[in-house]
Amino acid sequence: MTDCLFCKIVAGDIPADKLYEDDEIIAFWDISPQAPKHFLVIPKKHIDGPSAITAEDDALMGRIMRVGSDLAEANEIGDNFRVVFNNGAVAGQTVFHIHMHILGGRPMNWPPG
Ligand code: AMP
Ligand code: ZN
Repeated sequence: MTDCLFCKIVAGDIPADKLYEDDEIIAFWDISPQAPKHFLVIPKKHIDGPSAITAEDDALMGRIMRVGSDLAEANEIGDNFRVVFNNGAVAGQTVFHIHMHILGGRPMNWPPG
């Protein structure tokens, strides 16, 4: 999608501090971290957000979860981390290309804000 920030990161048109890449997925450190360790895992395929996932994305979304957990482990937050998907502007989504936040390295509160 031409006007999508994360599609531009996928295409290499905007730089990102990547920690993982394969043919379907990339992960990069969040530019405005909300915890000592905060990275995003995204599909290279453009999907607007969780509401736009279809059955054909089931395996891809499962891989995103598994790769995110492996990256949490590799980055020493594997025992305690928060996974967040924001869906919709009111819920805090600002980039409309689906992304899984993984945050760790500090205690987390519940309920979230
Ligand atoms: P959300 O509010 O759930 O849509 O999350 C979007 C996230 O993308 C925010 O945590 C931003 O800090 C992050 N972000 C925005 N632009 C960039 C960028 N160029 N590189 C890395 N992270 C970014
Ligand atoms: Zn996109």
